[in-house]
This record gives sequence, C-alpha cells and structure tokens, in this order.
Amino acid sequence: ARLGSRRHLTTSTARGGTKPYDVVVIGGGSGGIACARESASLGARVAVLDAVSPSPQGTSWGLGGTCVNVGCIPKKLMHRAARLGDAFGVLGSALGWPSVPDKAPAHDWPALSSSVTSYVRSLNFGYRSALQKEGVDYINAFGQLGPCADDGSFVVACTAPTDESDSDAEEPLPDLVASSVVVATGTRPVLPSEDDLPGVSSLAITSDDLFSLRESPGRVLVVGGGYIALECAGFLRGLGLPVTVVHRSDRFLRAFDSDASRAVVQDLTARGVQFRTGLSLSAITSEASHAGKPKMVRARNAETGEEVSLGEFDTVMFAIGRQPLSPSRFGAQNAGVETAGGRVTGGHAWPGHKLCELSSHVPESSTCPGVFAVGDVLQGSSELTPVAIQQGVRVARLLNQAGWKYGASRATEDPASATAFSLDGLDLGGLGMEVEPSQRAPPSRPTPAPWQLAVPPPVDPTLVPTAVFTPAEYACVGLSEEEAIRQYGQDGVEVVWSKFDDLEARLASQHAWRPHGEPGSLAKVVARREEPWNVLGFHLVGPEASEAIQGFAMALRAGVTLPDVASCVGVHPTLSEELVSAH
Ligand code: NDP
Repeated sequence: ARLGSRRHLTTSTARGGTKPYDVVVIGGGSGGIACARESASLGARVAVLDAVSPSPQGTSWGLGGTCVNVGCIPKKLMHRAARLGDAFGVLGSALGWPSVPDKAPAHDWPALSSSVTSYVRSLNFGYRSALQKEGVDYINAFGQLGPCADDGSFVVACTAPTDESDSDAEEPLPDLVASSVVVATGTRPVLPSEDDLPGVSSLAITSDDLFSLRESPGRVLVVGGGYIALECAGFLRGLGLPVTVVHRSDRFLRAFDSDASRAVVQDLTARGVQFRTGLSLSAITSEASHAGKPKMVRARNAETGEEVSLGEFDTVMFAIGRQPLSPSRFGAQNAGVETAGGRVTGGHAWPGHKLCELSSHVPESSTCPGVFAVGDVLQGSSELTPVAIQQGVRVARLLNQAGWKYGASRATEDPASATAFSLDGLDLGGLGMEVEPSQRAPPSRPTPAPWQLAVPPPVDPTLVPTAVFTPAEYACVGLSEEEAIRQYGQDGVEVVWSKFDDLEARLASQHAWRPHGEPGSLAKVVARREEPWNVLGFHLVGPEASEAIQGFAMALRAGVTLPDVASCVGVHPTLSEELVSAH
C-alpha cells in the first residue's frame, strides 16, 4: 500500500485515543531515551524516532545511540579486556599466577569483538522492550520537524532509513503530530575531506568502526590527541598491538589539566605507545583501495612544513572530534531552530510567542517553544552520556509541570483539530513503517515523593565529573589548574598535589616491568586561595580512578573546602586516599 499523500499518525491504539503525541523524541540515544521514558512514566503520550541504519562495516546500530553502540559501553569492555591482560605480565607472575614475562598468550580479538557485539545487541533489545513496557511508541525512522501549526503542535515527517536493496524504503512514512518535540540526534565522527587527504574515506576508519571489526586491527595509527584517541590507543596497546598516536600539537587532552594529561601520556609511553607530535597527515596510500590492507602514511610538520614518513599500518583510525548531522536532517529550518556548526543554539518563536520564552528556564534547550534539544547536538553541552540523560529528564519534568503544553499554550484538546489517522486499523507493514506501539498502559508507579519529581537544575559544566579510560585512568571534576588561574589569577588559586606510584605499580617496578622513573599516578586538588578555601577541582590519575571521582563530585557540589578535604579520613590502601592526604 503506497501512500498517495502524507498522513498524520497520532497516538497509539493502546491508549485508545487519537490525540497528538505529547512528546515526539527524534533520536534514540541516551538523552532521547531518558526523556521519552521519564515523560511516559509521568503519564505523557510519547513516540521515539530512531533510524537503525547500516554502518560502513555492514553492521547496524540498534537503539541506544553512540554510548551503547560505539561509545562508552564497547569502549569500557575493551578497556577492561586490556586491563585483565596485565595479569598475564610480570604483575600476575609476581603475584603467583603461572605466567611467563613477555610470553603472555596472544589476545583473541574475534572473541572479544563477538562478546562486545552480542552484549551491545542485548542492550539494544533491552531498550526496545523497556520502551514498549513503559508505553512509548518506537518507530524505526528519521524524523523531520515541520513548522509549528496554529494550534501550537508540530508535524514530524518520518522517513524510513535508506536501504538500497529496497526501493520501497524511500517511501515517506506517515507524519506524527506532537505538542512538543525533543531533538536528540547526537553526533558522528569527523573524517578529513577527500580534498584534504585523498583516499581517506576508503583507507581510514573511525572509532565508530573499530568496535565491530571482526579481525584484529593489527598495527594501528591513531590520529588525534583527545579522549577517544588516547582511550583507544590505551586498550589497543593493552591487547598487545603496536600502536602509534600522531597529533597535530604536543598538548594532549587540551581541555584538561596539563599535569594530569602529561601523566596519562607518560603512562601510555611506558606501556609502549609511540607518540608523534606536531604532525598532520599529508598522505595515505595503499596498493589496495580498502581499509583492510596495509597503508603507508606520511605527515607534515606543522611548523617547518617538512614531510616525514610515519611508516606502514594495518589500520588508520581518526579520532579528531565528532559533529552533528546536518540540521536540515531534523528540520531545524522549518521550525525556526537556530544552529551553529550543526549544533542547536536557540531559535525563534512562532507569531504570538516571545523570543527565548524558555531560555530562562531551560538554558540547555532550544528557545523555540515546544522544541527542545538535549545531548551532544546541543551547543555547549558536555558530550557525555550522564549529561544528556539529566537534560532529557529535566525537559520531561518541565513538560510535566506545564501539563505537557510547554510552549504550546494554544494547543487544543480537540482531537479533530489535529487528527487525520490513528494507528487503528492501519496495515503498518503495508505502509513500510516499523512501529512498535506500546502494548499496555505505562505501569503505574508508586506515588513519587516530591523530591523525585523535582526538576533538576540546568547542568552546571563545572560540576560534571568525567573520566578518560586510559590504562592509568584520569578522572576529574571541576576546574583544571590552568582554568582556575585564568578565572582567579595566579595569586587566587591554591593547588595541593602529589605524584606517586600506586601499590600495583610499585610491585611491578620491583619486578622491572615498569622502568623506574617519575611516578605514574597523580592526585591534585585545586582551590581558592582565600577563606573559606573553596575547592574548585579534583584530579586523579591511576588505576580505577574513574570509580573514585563520583564521591568527590558530590563533595564539590556540596561546596567542600580545603580544610574539609584535609580533615577527611582516607581509605587505605587506595588511590583516592591520595586526594585527601596530598597536603
Ligand atoms: P576531542 O574533542 O576530545 O579531541 C579531538 C582531538 O582531535 C583533539 O586532540 C584535537 O586537537 C584533534 N583534532 C581536531 N581537529 C583536527 C584536525 N582537523 N586534524 C588533526 N587533529 C584534529 O574529540 P574525541 O573525538 O576524542 O571525542 C569526542 C567527544 O566524545 C569528547 O569531547 C567527549 O566529550 C566524548 N567522549 C567521552 C568519553 C568519556 O567520557 N570517557 C570517551 C570518548 C569520547 P586539538 O587539541 O589541537 O584541538
């Protein structure tokens, strides 16, 4: 059944109604799903649009977005795999495990890749069934915002993901009608253009491709000096692969504390990662035109212009940042949503509504009333899963407080005004539309305590903890020493810190696994140099540092001071005790 004209789908049969959706979420990643689930649990009629499309490696993303498919989850599993490998080295041997130094068993990449892929698939499935149970309609489609209608609602046009083997998939799908739309379309990795680096699109990959490689990536060249570059370099080296990192400057993890960044790079170097700095790639060549064959790589010195050979690699992986898809993909121009460099910055109201109506309440949202943005697509947002989740929950609770009519104050409850079709009686398969309507009403949850419904405040980036999952993990919250000095001046900042070897490293160095030299771990507290000595930031580098920082983030949020920190009793022997005893 082909559609002659566009149709409007409203809410699902399971609700028995034909009203517009209260909320349509475009994008099924961490932020979008959090917003959808929270909205549904608060009683809203919700749909999530997320197009499951094939990746260049032929695999496809399921629900869950970057974090689940190609980010935090597969990365953390590979990081753990690499850390476990340490047990086969001198450290394991020193602790009585029957391993032979330098003759650790070869790592089985296909086994790791297969475990990671099936775990990711189970999460994809878990999200789909959770949405269904919670009363959220899931639709496998791209969504594009239309203009705001007179009744304050939005039409969201739906298109099936491109599948070249099926020409019917090009068919536009029925539209949705929504009182509010949440844009949560995330970002994708950047590659240089073919003009700048001929052959790059066929000879290089990104981290999005790395996690699903069926065969070992072999000798790897990682391009970039940020989170993803160093994390991937760390676990690939830990899995026994030769790894070179090439970066355009000698400042790694630019937004972070420079002492901590140096400690991370020092540790990676001690583990055998090669670093080439001040260089930008100038040529990638191969006798074969696909990513699986050896490649010769050349680079140019940024200052002298001199060209050098970086050598031969099996895999060249770019990690030079991520960018949103074109805003026209989600219809930014139709609904007056403003963007810069693809990221949502704000918008204008439709006639009768004030500009920036929401901005005082929802700085992390679009200012186009009724249209919100959460997660990585939002300008200025930290590109982190928990931040996107908090933004999604915040928008849901704001909409709930506003009776699901935030920005759509002229919206009508009259079903006839917005309804052309409901899902009732439609041949969904014939429409080429994969809809998973909710099977039952959302579970009634116990009456929440007032604090459980509180609208969380806008995310304050200075209180967001984060971790770089390199072998020596770097976890931090708050300001770096450099940023604190920039804000308060050299004389206004007190820094207490220590460099030390943790227990494992001390043992390993006794057994000559790690060269004696500068200690590998770091603890640093950055504070105001004036009463009451408010702490501005905590920084910790060492094994499992990521597990320690959450509590310090809470302390920072509660306004902890240096005297508080100094009077805190440590847990011994741990990495985190160094933060309370570095005085
Ligand atoms: P980052 O912004 O962290 O790093 C990008 C790196 O690429 C920088 O070193 C940058 O150099 C370099 N770069 C940028 N453009 C070019 C270019 N044209 N040529 C050569 N080098 C270039 O991005 P990532 O891709 O590493 O990560 C994306 C985001 O994902 C992060 O910002 C982070 O928020 C999130 N993420 C979070 C993780 C976590 O929580 N553990 C893990 C991984 C990612 P320069 O410094 O000189 O600008």
